[in-house]
Amino acid sequence: MSYEQPALPYAKNALAPYISEQTLEFHYGKHHASYVTKYNNMVQGTEYDSKPIEEVIKAVYGDSSKTGIFNNAAQAWNHSFYWNCMKSGGGGTPTGALADKINADFGSIDKFKEEFKTAGTGQFGSGWAWLVLDNGTLKVTKTLNAENPLHKGQTPLLTMDVWEHAYYLDYQNKRPDYVQTFLDSLVNWDFVAANYQAAA
Ligand code: FE
Repeated sequence: MSYEQPALPYAKNALAPYISEQTLEFHYGKHHASYVTKYNNMVQGTEYDSKPIEEVIKAVYGDSSKTGIFNNAAQAWNHSFYWNCMKSGGGGTPTGALADKINADFGSIDKFKEEFKTAGTGQFGSGWAWLVLDNGTLKVTKTLNAENPLHKGQTPLLTMDVWEHAYYLDYQNKRPDYVQTFLDSLVNWDFVAANYQAAA
């Protein structure tokens, strides 16, 4: 089945001034759209055509002859997930069961935020920072390029794109400022909490 790029869950100017309309024009409209198109072209007429994209990601991971399919599938999926991880008026702190779990597994919300910031700023080159549920425990991880937690059996709860295309128009080389702003003003904790409820 072909993978359809989901509509953005908000208007392209909804995250301004933290992420500009121009960034979303390029990031959603060009980069993400291109991954989706390339993925669909690559799997057309293959055994993967009939599979959900999450299964394709797991099936082709580590197969050096299918790196192109993996990269475009994972980038298509990662971006669809990332858009939902942000909202207008986001940021702040989680509440309820998710907050209790973060406090239990990281020590405090602030310690989680420090780990997440370190993952995002410390990922050398392109990649992603994640909050995942791994065998019942919350963990912060980072992945290189297109890689994501799905093939490790981890459940992604939150992600942040740290490829330069995610922030360069708004923050230039200052990735730490983008990472801080993501936590302070953009995270959609309702989405993260729903992912946690579904996985727990
Ligand atoms: Fe991106």
